[in-house]
Amino acid sequence: MEVFAVPGLPEIREGDDLAALVAERVDLRPDDVVCVASTVVSKAEGRGAALDDFPASERAHEVARRLSELAGEEKDPRFAQAILEESEEVILDAPFVLAVTRFGHITVNAGIDQSNVPDHDLLLLPEDPTASAEALSGSLGCPVVVTDTSGRPFRHGQRGVALGWAGMPAARDWRGESDRDGRELGVTVQAVVDELAGAANLVTGEGDGGTPVAVVRGFAFGDHEGSDLLFRSTDRDVVRSALREWTWT
Ligand code: GDP
Ligand code: MN
Ligand code: MN
Ligand code: MN
Repeated sequence: MEVFAVPGLPEIREGDDLAALVAERVDLRPDDVVCVASTVVSKAEGRGAALDDFPASERAHEVARRLSELAGEEKDPRFAQAILEESEEVILDAPFVLAVTRFGHITVNAGIDQSNVPDHDLLLLPEDPTASAEALSGSLGCPVVVTDTSGRPFRHGQRGVALGWAGMPAARDWRGESDRDGRELGVTVQAVVDELAGAANLVTGEGDGGTPVAVVRGFAFGDHEGSDLLFRSTDRDVVRSALREWTWT
């Protein structure tokens, strides 16, 4: 398997045809998986925003006040308002805001980005990353994963995750297959699109590299059982349930 960045992509702006810009720069094969940083999907979809688009509610002022005290620096209540508006639920409001986006991804600040956004104050995540991936996959003729960089519980460090995907299942089901001992695997469902997103993030980088799109070549999902379940449902998520009950003091 090989992972390489698509070279020479310009700064992406609202209305740009991202699929065409990619297709001009790489000869894709039907079994390539194209991993696209959500940052450029958002830019193309016009998800850049101004802080002034988010006049702060009382709740946003409250959240920002608490964060400011904790951080020892002023946090903008309009940023807090943007998070509230992009979220289906706020799981934690301190010591950072952990929110569930409207499409079900749980991440800090609802994934609102202020890095690599020259034209706007803020960049919101794509509204429906699955729909974005479907459109890109349709145009490119191969599977597409829309990625973001995200933190995770239990461990330091951020890594790539899949927000939306099309043209392949999210996960490979290993249940029913055997280990080297002949023991049947009972639980393992491999989150393949997250693993591809992680690999892609290694070549896209996080800074000024200008490489938001990575091609994974030579990965075959194969003839395995797959599923598209990635985000846990609320009632089956013990970490989310525990955090709802927990307060930072
Ligand atoms: P995120 O993980 O989706 O939040 O995206 P990042 O901000 O980490 O950026 C991933 C990669 O895309 C980095 O190499 C950035 O330099 C690059 N990048 C971000 N925006 C653009 C853009 O508009 N055009 C190009 N060519 N590269 C970009
Ligand atoms: Mn991001
Ligand atoms: Mn990133
Ligand atoms: Mn193992």
